[in-house]
Amino acid sequence: MKVTSCVGPSCGRPYQINRFSDTTIWVEPGKITCPHCGTVTEGEANAVFMTHALSAAEEAGFSASSEGAGSAEDTPAAAGEPPQE
Ligand SMILES: [Zn+2]
Repeated sequence: MKVTSCVGPSCGRPYQINRFSDTTIWVEPGKITCPHCGTVTEGEANAVFMTHALSAAEEAGFSASSEGAGSAEDTPAAAGEPPQE
């Protein structure tokens, strides 16, 4: 699973991509479709790609991290607990 940003100029929103090598399922191979606006991006022709919109919280977190603004949620040990090996 990975998250990418839509290349659509009026969209640009992040979404999740799940890649499958089984090209017998119902999605056209090699096409990555934005779940927000429908912009299609080319992927590997020998794979199929299922896309999903992120939750609002996930999208907010992705936007924040992509701007280099906030990574506070990535440091759970900062709340006073000693680091565990
Ligand atoms: Zn889009």
